[in-house]
Amino acid sequence: MRDSDGGSPNNRNYHNSPNLLSNPLTRGGQGRRRTVTPMGDRLGRMRIVSLAGGIGGARFLRGLRAAAPDADITVIVNTGDDITLFGLRVCPDLDTVMYTLGGGINEEQGWGREKETHVVKEELAAYGVEPQWFGLGDRDFATHIVRSQMLAAGYPLSQVTEALCTRWQPGVRLLPMSDDRCETHVVITEEPGGGVEADTDGSKADVRVQGSTEPTNKRRRRAIHFQEWWVRLRASVPAESFALIGIDTARPAPGVLEAIAEADVVLLPPSNPVVSIGTILQVPGIRDALLAKTVVGVSPIIGGAPVRGMADACLTAIGVETSAQAVLELYGADLLDGWLVAPEDAGVALEGVRVAARPLLMHDVDAAAAIARAALDLALDLAR
Ligand code: GDP
Ligand code: CA
Repeated sequence: MRDSDGGSPNNRNYHNSPNLLSNPLTRGGQGRRRTVTPMGDRLGRMRIVSLAGGIGGARFLRGLRAAAPDADITVIVNTGDDITLFGLRVCPDLDTVMYTLGGGINEEQGWGREKETHVVKEELAAYGVEPQWFGLGDRDFATHIVRSQMLAAGYPLSQVTEALCTRWQPGVRLLPMSDDRCETHVVITEEPGGGVEADTDGSKADVRVQGSTEPTNKRRRRAIHFQEWWVRLRASVPAESFALIGIDTARPAPGVLEAIAEADVVLLPPSNPVVSIGTILQVPGIRDALLAKTVVGVSPIIGGAPVRGMADACLTAIGVETSAQAVLELYGADLLDGWLVAPEDAGVALEGVRVAARPLLMHDVDAAAAIARAALDLALDLAR
């Protein structure tokens, strides 16, 4: 069903109007105001806001879309991982969510495009162009070219994202957390002799960053881009802290605070609590806006370990134990009303938060949908 004031973000035809890539400013629906009713919008749809990082967020959202096909879902995505490579703006978390919900994701990898080739990467390497540690495929490159072209033409990231979604039809409204550039950097200590050695892909890499080619005989603290720490060094060098460059002046992207204000419930998927959810929560205004809402989170930590990836290295860096209990305390009872944990973490508790235990492995879309359904049921119960 089409909404007269511009269409439902949940309707798969939502973006089927004029080609926004040729003229993004002709777009309609986004940012519109709805008549607020006690529960659901004026068409009776439930309004859900979810925050999201990359893989964990995307898989949860695919389940949520299946569990609540009629809901109006707005997703606020982390952009702290964004990086400029070869002059192109790359937004890994936005793209992972867009490709996953749009049916173009490399399922096995969890990021990047399916049926990908790497000719451009090989050609860049043949020229000796750095960095060579970030894997961009040919199909993926096209996304970054379109995004960079539009940004250079003056469109904000939120509008660029909406334009890219005309192709991918994610069935949810994707919003970057901010249109302002705000990047996560990681403080590490470089060891004497030219760097901390780390094994990446079987080859030895050191942590000297661009601009630092001279070996040094002193230990040096340096801040490197999150992607260099995560992808090149695979988080094998301890992070001393994270620095969110630009966070103090970052503003929530247009539509973010409005979506939160109008939301019936807010869900935190099992995304990285530090560098995905934690980053979004630090954009001035977002956490405060969420405090007034019914918020249910899903633990990314099961039995003392992340399900996938290196979230433990991020938690350690901020002095938090890798456990469902510690992540619950990190988010806090002021933010969370409900917390889903895996059966092995059933003993987790915090005053003011209702904890429920259930299987939390997103093996496939059905498993993710069952988790999303449980999070939603808990949230709706708490919101009553
Ligand atoms: P990234 O930006 O690609 O790292 O992705 P996210 O921040 O969205 O998600 C990363 C987190 O997802 C990691 O901390 C994982 O532990 C968590 N995760 C991945 N798969 C699953 C799963 O099947 N179940 C749960 N509970 N967490 C998961
Ligand atoms: Ca990420």
